[in-house]
Amino acid sequence: MSKGLLYVVATPIGNLEDVTFRAVKVLQGVDFIAAEDTRHSRPLLSSQGIDTPVLSLHEHNERDKSAWLIERLIDGESLALIADAGTPLINDPGFPLVQQAVQAGIKVVPIPGANAMVCALSAAGLPTNRFLFAGFPPRQLTQRLNWLRALQRETGTLLFYESSHRIIPALSDMAEVFGRQREAVVARELTKLHETFLRGTLEALQIEIERDANQQRGEFVILIHGYSGNSGDRVMVDAEKILEVLSEELPVKQASALTARITGQKKNELYQRILRKKRNEM
Ligand code: SAM
Repeated sequence: MSKGLLYVVATPIGNLEDVTFRAVKVLQGVDFIAAEDTRHSRPLLSSQGIDTPVLSLHEHNERDKSAWLIERLIDGESLALIADAGTPLINDPGFPLVQQAVQAGIKVVPIPGANAMVCALSAAGLPTNRFLFAGFPPRQLTQRLNWLRALQRETGTLLFYESSHRIIPALSDMAEVFGRQREAVVARELTKLHETFLRGTLEALQIEIERDANQQRGEFVILIHGYSGNSGDRVMVDAEKILEVLSEELPVKQASALTARITGQKKNELYQRILRKKRNEM
């Protein structure tokens, strides 16, 4: 193994058989491995007979620890960076280390492999010629809605990561912002036993997942068809704006009733939406 190199090594996103020959060779050959959670990576390393020393590099220590790792690389040691799952740096730690390595003139070598977003995109059946990976939506409602709104007119396929406890609110807010009729795919538990692709409109997907507790378990990639300028998209954009403006001026009940009349959407749903928003703003 070449000395003084930083290898960025992708590991499986569920199915251990997805580790590559090259990843195993590199992980066996380097002086040490920096892992997000050393306990989490242990089963993968043991399954491949890898006994290279492992130290932890996670979001809470990576700024401080990266400088020390760079020293070791400059001293000629070789290091492999891995995340808990998939490709490091993709919504996982490693950016400060790679950035500092580049600045220090250290060679960074990617070892490609699994990545949930690309895996989902490859089988979803949505356009792949242009896409935008947005990562995790913000947790706070107002922030999330504004963040989603900035993507409303993106024409490429949109990709998001989401966890099991926020999958339903995420789909609901996406339907609100992008339009209930926007085509989408929910890819769940990729490469694992319960791998599922659900396809349909945002509204239909939300209903289907709400009804079935099993569909709410595991890890998710949400894919949304890009903006195509059709009327279904535009109506939903307007409804959201109308609701926002009216609820600033009128009592909640009246604002939701008027928005329902203008847009044809359900009064009660609009009412709940305003309440949810107000609660989050408190
Ligand atoms: N570095 C990883 C990658 O390359 O995909 C992503 C890590 S990020 C912290 C974890 C998120 O990725 C999960 O919450 C989920 O949204 C998505 N994810 C990871 N593994 C997945 C899987 N097997 N199926 C579906 N989504 C997955």
